[in-house]
Amino acid sequence: MPVANDGPMPSAALPTSSRQVLFSAPDVIEQTVTAIPEPGPHDALVRVALVGICATDLHLLAGHIGDPFPLVPGHEFVGEIAAIGAEAAAARGLAVGDHVAVEMLLPCRSCARCREGRYNLCEADDMALGLPRGRQYGVNIPRTVEPGLWGGYSEFLHVPAEAVTHRLPASMPWTRAVLVEPLAVAGRAVARGRVAPGDTVVVIGPGPVGILTAAAARAAGAAKVVVVGTRDSRLALSRAFGADATLNSRDRDPVVGVRELLGGQLADVVVEVAGVPAAQQQAVSLVRRGGRVVLAGACGAHAVVSFLADEDLLTREIDILPSFLSAGGFEPAVAMLERHDFPYEQLVTHSFALDDVALAYDLIRSRTEDVVKAVLDPSSESTR
Ligand SMILES: [Zn+2]
Ligand SMILES: [Zn+2]
Repeated sequence: MPVANDGPMPSAALPTSSRQVLFSAPDVIEQTVTAIPEPGPHDALVRVALVGICATDLHLLAGHIGDPFPLVPGHEFVGEIAAIGAEAAAARGLAVGDHVAVEMLLPCRSCARCREGRYNLCEADDMALGLPRGRQYGVNIPRTVEPGLWGGYSEFLHVPAEAVTHRLPASMPWTRAVLVEPLAVAGRAVARGRVAPGDTVVVIGPGPVGILTAAAARAAGAAKVVVVGTRDSRLALSRAFGADATLNSRDRDPVVGVRELLGGQLADVVVEVAGVPAAQQQAVSLVRRGGRVVLAGACGAHAVVSFLADEDLLTREIDILPSFLSAGGFEPAVAMLERHDFPYEQLVTHSFALDDVALAYDLIRSRTEDVVKAVLDPSSESTR
């Protein structure tokens, strides 16, 4: 066995190829195999243990987000170091076998936005490679960029010098660790909303990120957390993640309901994670004068949030705060997962082999089973 900081594993021990799921064109899913080069001195190779399936992935397949084909999707991955170059091992303090989360963002680390810590807004692009601003694993780096291991729906992932890695406790089960990215997104949304001890918080949209936003708001000291949604099973689950109360907006007017739950007041902070324009509108209607509204749900190209009158926005001096991705969110997320104050593993309801991506997507779209978070396990074989 190689020892720590001893450079790459011997070639004989290194896998030479990686199975991957490839979105080759809109609505086309293929299974492929890609060669694995030996990592350079500044690089690492991660064996993917689990990767979460995100709504974003389904939008990517449909061609709703940019033009990234051919793409290996997957940005919610955790795994272990399979090989690591000497410089990378020294710089990151990591060795073969260590458990890690890798952030989906690959920041340049030198532009003005990166230097101020907002690396989710990285302004560097690499036109030589035809890469857009804000490179993201599994979203906008096509497989044609060498070495082609840029997405988590894969046995292995390439980790270059600019990638941001976080060590995970070896004892943390992968089914909990795999939630680190959505929890980091939730944590950033709560931080953007400046949720402080004693604040009342409404979360709209109890998907995985919304449910974790309730948990993050609770961890930030919120006095009362109300989750608003349309699916009773999700609302019930929210209660195990820090929600004091829930409200089904199909059953009753959320403004009336929230006022009742918050002693006649509207919320100090509303976090919208539903990703539909109607929810953005609803968020504005549920916040108190001078409160904060965080827009964390992606609405796609058709989103239009319109404010009908000055009394919606101007004369109430509401802060509208978009929250994009997870910059700065991983460290607190790892700490929360370690503290284990909430039953995180309950969110991971389904696991599939790489071969069964299409099946997983059908199940998610059909809503016949209550899929909360489905994951892919690249080491498992299809049993279907
Ligand atoms: Zn995601
Ligand atoms: Zn940058």
